[in-house]
Amino acid sequence: MAEAVTMEKAVGALQKHGYRITPQRTMILESLLGASDHVTAEGLYEDVRKSYPHISFSTVYRTLELLRDSGLITQTDLGGGRWQYHPADKADHHHLICQRCGAVSTVPQEIFHDVHTHLQKKYGFDALMTHYAVYGRCAKCRGDGDDSGTGESE
Ligand SMILES: [Zn+2]
Ligand SMILES: [Zn+2]
Repeated sequence: MAEAVTMEKAVGALQKHGYRITPQRTMILESLLGASDHVTAEGLYEDVRKSYPHISFSTVYRTLELLRDSGLITQTDLGGGRWQYHPADKADHHHLICQRCGAVSTVPQEIFHDVHTHLQKKYGFDALMTHYAVYGRCAKCRGDGDDSGTGESE
């Protein structure tokens, strides 16, 4: 599995791209790496803004983009119209998202093991299979009777 994403690594990635390590950026990294659950750019922004009211949303967003491009964090659409971020080492799972009730559940990484093997064998493609969002309908909603159509997704 991915190595731990440390503060040092995150700082190193930013510096490598010519970013200055400001107290605001340090705080973005701290809340991101310290979070046990997914975080959104909006959530981080609100967090950091409490201490640094003048920080701009684009500072937060660009920091996240750079960390994503450096492979240190994952960016996943879990519905609700917001990207969710995880440090790469905490992203060893996938999510099942019900398009009807919005329930999000977590399944282990191995669930796509066969798909990975298949892609490799058949297409010679080494898929990066971390932190997928799989859309569909949860067991509870499937049991509700109305199985016509696709249901309402946003
Ligand atoms: Zn996750
Ligand atoms: Zn559901």
